[in-house]
Amino acid sequence: GDITYEVALQKIAGTGTVILSFQDVTHLAQAGQMRRDFVANVSHELRTPLTSLMGFIETLRGPARDDAAARERFLGIMTGEAERMNRLVGDLLSLSRVEAQERVRPTAKVDLRNVLHTTLRNLTPLADDNGVVLHHDRGDLPLMIRGDSDQLLQVFTNLIENAIKYGGSGQSVEVTATTSDRDPALRAPAVRIVVRDNGAGIDPLHLPRLTERFYRADSHRSRALGGTGLGLAIVKHILNRHRGRMKITSELGKGAEFCVILPLDTDTA
Ligand code: ADP
Repeated sequence: GDITYEVALQKIAGTGTVILSFQDVTHLAQAGQMRRDFVANVSHELRTPLTSLMGFIETLRGPARDDAAARERFLGIMTGEAERMNRLVGDLLSLSRVEAQERVRPTAKVDLRNVLHTTLRNLTPLADDNGVVLHHDRGDLPLMIRGDSDQLLQVFTNLIENAIKYGGSGQSVEVTATTSDRDPALRAPAVRIVVRDNGAGIDPLHLPRLTERFYRADSHRSRALGGTGLGLAIVKHILNRHRGRMKITSELGKGAEFCVILPLDTDTA
């Protein structure tokens, strides 16, 4: 990529010497560009439903004024657009909260089995509505980590919700947890939670960028399903805070697998 330099010219008094210095400020330039891209994305995402709402308000004022059936239909669409804006603002707030807390290590002891149990219970109605069967392999051992249980709930909610949404009707979603004394990725005792679906999958070329804000592998599908494009970015920041990692593997037509790796709490006191 390009390198951005800041150039300074300094004259040393009474010596006739001039110092010309270059400082590499590429990282600052990139951060500035990312911030501008983010603001542009947010504006675009908010303006789309807003434009639609304004259009329907005009129609309700004019042509549809005396048509009760049309009015009812338009109000339904308008509610959907307002809900989309509400989800987007909610996800933006979540993202800014988790980013602000990213450097504060969580200290509470959390049994991940409870988090997974609650997540799956909350999502059973959504799975039923989508004709998806949830499978959960619930081991007998506690999975103790240091964590923020609300944030961990958010992580598994986002991943399992995606698996249900993108998994497709008639399919199943599998959630498994395994532990190891020395996980190769963390080089420490860790738990791996795998969320696997057998839906349409993701083209591997998208995988490296999937956790970026507003990055979508299939933009049309994401929007049709009410996605904000922020779910995996929120997951990434929460996992950073927990010293965790995520590995995504997928192929088109072969489903997707999201593997979360979190350090186990070995302090038994
Ligand atoms: P969205 O709100 O669009 O679902 P996410 O950040 O949660 O945003 O996910 C980013 C993108 O990753 C999605 O738009 C979708 O293209 C892709 N994706 C996420 N999970 C899956 C999955 N289980 N199967 C297929 N594609 C997925």
